[in-house]
Amino acid sequence: MEYDVVIGLEVHSELKTKSKVFCGCLNEFGGEPNTHCCPVCIGLPGSLPIPNKEAVKMTIKAGLAVGSQINDVAIFERKNYFYPDLAKAYQISQAVRPICVGGGIEIDTEDGNKKFIRLNRIHLEEDAAKLIHNHKIGGTMIDYNRGGTPLIEIVSEPDMSSAEEAVKYLAKLRNILQYIEVSDCKMEQGSLRCDINISLKPKGSKELGVRAEMKNLNSFRSVARAIEYEIKRQSRLLDEGEKIVQETRRWDDARNRSFSMRKKEDAQDYRYFPDPDLLPFKIEKIFVDEIKKSMPQLREQKIKYYVDELGLSNYDAEVLTNDLNLVKYFDKVISYFYKPKFVCNFILTTLLKKVKDDSSDDLVVPISAENFANLLSMYESKQISQAICRELFDEIWETDEDCKKIVAERGLTQNNDEDDIKNKVLELIKEFPQSVQDYKSGNTKALSFFIGQLMKKTQGKANPQIASKIIKEILDN
Ligand code: ADP
Ligand code: MG
Ligand code: ZN
Repeated sequence: MEYDVVIGLEVHSELKTKSKVFCGCLNEFGGEPNTHCCPVCIGLPGSLPIPNKEAVKMTIKAGLAVGSQINDVAIFERKNYFYPDLAKAYQISQAVRPICVGGGIEIDTEDGNKKFIRLNRIHLEEDAAKLIHNHKIGGTMIDYNRGGTPLIEIVSEPDMSSAEEAVKYLAKLRNILQYIEVSDCKMEQGSLRCDINISLKPKGSKELGVRAEMKNLNSFRSVARAIEYEIKRQSRLLDEGEKIVQETRRWDDARNRSFSMRKKEDAQDYRYFPDPDLLPFKIEKIFVDEIKKSMPQLREQKIKYYVDELGLSNYDAEVLTNDLNLVKYFDKVISYFYKPKFVCNFILTTLLKKVKDDSSDDLVVPISAENFANLLSMYESKQISQAICRELFDEIWETDEDCKKIVAERGLTQNNDEDDIKNKVLELIKEFPQSVQDYKSGNTKALSFFIGQLMKKTQGKANPQIASKIIKEILDN
C-alpha cells in the first residue's frame, strides 16, 4: 500500500545566556563536573528559582525571528517525572501558556517549490543534568553542570513529509537561531537536539496515523537515517496488517536502527501544574518592541545585501551566509581589504576546502581577519604569486604568523621583472634543447614544462602570466 509520511519535530536548543535559567550559576559547556551548581540547580528542597530575564528575552527573540505571537502572560509549570538527571523530580517547563505561539519556517522542497512548516509554540524550560554511563565502574555518573541550562523547545506542527524536508527545516531553524545569536547550536555538544515524531497514513487520508517518537538526535545525518528507517519499519508493519503502537524509540546510529524504549507517556502522566514558586509573568509590549528593534539581519537579508550592495553572485552569497561565523569573518576581512568578490572567491575555492578537511561541525578560521586580508591584498596586487599565496595560506592556517613579515623576511615577493625572467628562460632553453624540439614539433606540453622549470628556479616567485608570455614569445621565434 502507498502511504503519506507525516513528521513533526521538537527541537531543543540551549540558550547561551551567561547564567542558568533559575539561578546565578555559570552557564557554560563542559567544565570540571559538578562545579557550576548550587541548591537551586541540583534541586535541593526549599530552594527558590528566580527566572533569568535574558533567557526570556532570547526566547522572545527566537519567536520574533520565526513570526510567532508573543503571549502577554506566560506561565512556568512543573512537568513531573522521576529520573536521576532531575533530582527534584519535576522539570520547570511551560504547557498551557508558553512564551511564543504559532509562526513558521519556509523551506525549499526538492521540486523547487516552497513549503511553509507551521510552528505550534516555543517554550522555555530548564535542561536536565547529564548522565554519563560508565561501563568500567559498572554504573552511572551525574554531572549537574548542565542542569538548569536554559533550553527552548521549538515544536513544529506535523507538516513535514520526508527526511529531506525534516533536514531542511532543521538546518534553516539552526541557521536562524545562530543568526539571532541565542544559541550556538553545536549539535555535537548537544546544544541543539531534535526529537522526531513520525507516522504514516494511507495516501490521501485526512486522519493522522499513530506516531512513534525518537528522542535526542544530534546530527543531520542521524535525523535523515532515523526517518528513513522508521518509514520502512512502519510501512512494513502496516502492510502486514499490524497496528503501530504509540511509543518512544531509541535511535542507535551505529547499528542504523531503532529500538522500542517505552510506551509513550501522555501529557496527563506528567501532571503539569503551575509552579507555585514562580508567578505567571507579564510580557510587556514595550519589552517586545525593544527586542524587535534590536533584531539582527537574518540570512535572507544578508544574502540580499551581498548581492545588491557587494555584487556577489547569488550562489556565492548563499554559500557564504550558510554559517554566521563565516559571515562575520568575511565582513571583518573586507573591512580591511575591500575587494568583496576577490575575497569571496578565495574563501569559496580555498578556505572552505580547508575547513572541510578539518571536518569540525563548527566553522572556525584560525587566521585573524587582518592577517588574511593582508595575504589577499598582497596576492591581488601581484606582490606575491598564486603559488606563494597558497603556501603562505597553509602556513598561517597553522600559526597565524604575520604574513607580511614572512614575505619580507624570506624575500617571497613575486618577480615581475620581465628582463630578469627573460634571462632565466633563456638559460632554461639552453639547458633543455630536447623540450624546445618537442615544442617546435607541436607538443604544447613543453610550454608547461618550461613554466614548471622556471618556477623551480625561482622558488615559485616568477609572475606566471609574464613567464608564460615570455616563454611563448621565445619558443615561437
Ligand atoms: P508530546 O509533547 O507529548 O510529544 P505533542 O502533541 O506536543 O506531543 O506533539 C509533539 C510533536 O509531535 C509535534 O511536533 C507534533 O507536530 C508531532 N505530532 C503529533 N501528532 C503526530 C502524528 N500523528 N504524526 C507525526 N507527528 C505528530
Ligand atoms: Mg514529545
Ligand atoms: Zn545553580
